[in-house]
Amino acid sequence: MAIKTKAAPLIALQNIGKAYIQPNREPISIIENISLELRSGEIIALLGPSGSGKSSLMRIIAGLIPPTQGKVLYHNRPLTGINPGVAIVFQSFALYPWLTVLENVELGLKAKGIALELRRQKAMQTIDVIGLDGFENAYPRELSGGMRQRVGFARALAVEPELLCMDEPFSALDVLTAENLRIELLDLWLERRIPTKAILIVTHGIEEAVVLADRIIVLGRNPGRIRADFPVKLKHYRDRKNPAFGAIVDQVYKILTHPDLEKSELKATIKTPKTIRQPKYQSLPSVRIGSVAGFLEILENRQNADLYRLGQELQLEVDDILPIVEAAKLMDFINLTEGDINLKPIAYQFIAGGIDERKQLVSQQLLWNIRLVQQIYNICSSIDDRRVSEELVLDILQNHFSPKEAKRQLDTAIDWGRYAELYSYDEPTGTIFIEEETSSEEKAFNNEI
Ligand code: ADP
Ligand code: MG
Repeated sequence: MAIKTKAAPLIALQNIGKAYIQPNREPISIIENISLELRSGEIIALLGPSGSGKSSLMRIIAGLIPPTQGKVLYHNRPLTGINPGVAIVFQSFALYPWLTVLENVELGLKAKGIALELRRQKAMQTIDVIGLDGFENAYPRELSGGMRQRVGFARALAVEPELLCMDEPFSALDVLTAENLRIELLDLWLERRIPTKAILIVTHGIEEAVVLADRIIVLGRNPGRIRADFPVKLKHYRDRKNPAFGAIVDQVYKILTHPDLEKSELKATIKTPKTIRQPKYQSLPSVRIGSVAGFLEILENRQNADLYRLGQELQLEVDDILPIVEAAKLMDFINLTEGDINLKPIAYQFIAGGIDERKQLVSQQLLWNIRLVQQIYNICSSIDDRRVSEELVLDILQNHFSPKEAKRQLDTAIDWGRYAELYSYDEPTGTIFIEEETSSEEKAFNNEI
């Protein structure tokens, strides 16, 4: 029998501390006594309140700043200077405005002394993988935020780092662009299209951490220290509506909002719930988004609407309103308790929004809440020519619905997704597809030039 030897961690921190010198020349201790190991095969999220030393810790791991105490080991050897196995993606993109996309992506390779020809070849490959082809000669200012951050990713990935570090890489992007990039990053990682061995992401978004991470480390403040370090055992891709997902979000929320809870007390809090089951398909009511919009507008000026009284007022049978209510509920625009309807803040945002904002909000709500729409969108995005035949989707649906009902479900999902411009539908061929030129990023790009 083979003897299993535990591989050395990629990076180990041993009793790391960091103190900065304040303007009054007094040292101030930011993090103390941090020990942890980063191993291959993990996405690790580093969460914590602002000022808890997340960025400092990442810079120490990357060798950009030295710790004032303790040791960093890289493949079991003490690290001095820049860590050759690490590349960083920054929140602010940190691109050089006078360099083209290609030149920006080449920077890290150049710093490693790689000759021009190979450098160009590797940069072009990464540009391709990251979905920037066609933009090689553009300048950063010509790009939307989402495309700029793609350049940030490409620059970091071009050097094929063992550890990809990201410091709040999605926080400067709008919700939908951020979610798209997150999923694309997951695709690259899960399908092993990048040789990266581990990913460390600094974030203050709890959901972002639970969407991405296999392990979550929570830092506390004054001084920065590890308050919790635990695995997330949900399967990718994770469904935000899965109760197990919500349970982990709640646990992390509890840790963050109870800074005084000690490690031993937290232990009981952190466990992955046993019943990890993807919920079955929701049954989508055949309702147009326009009806949902009208319904939300009617509710806007009522504090708390009673479903039955509303029906009387609108001279509609409750049965006629119910599907609309249900659609609004599924998209998470309303709360519904015992016949009383309340608008959620996102619904007020929707009502106040112009057509573009409305579309964007609906597309966000659909991607987060409606499994079928999510799935169609993911299937299309993962296929090279970004199109899928409706037959395929119908076949999947028929495992859960009668043939007639499956068709009705598909029609509704197509209708909703088209409204949100998540995908389009070609009726004669029965194909659902993502139109390249209508992606929000390219729209922003077109508007800017
Ligand atoms: P986080 O990323 O969690 O917000 P940081 O690592 O950026 O935390 O900062 C932690 C603390 O260290 C903050 O209070 C910040 O003001 C301080 N700090 C960060 N960098 C420096 C520096 N170069 N000099 C002095 N103080 C710093
Ligand atoms: Mg920071």
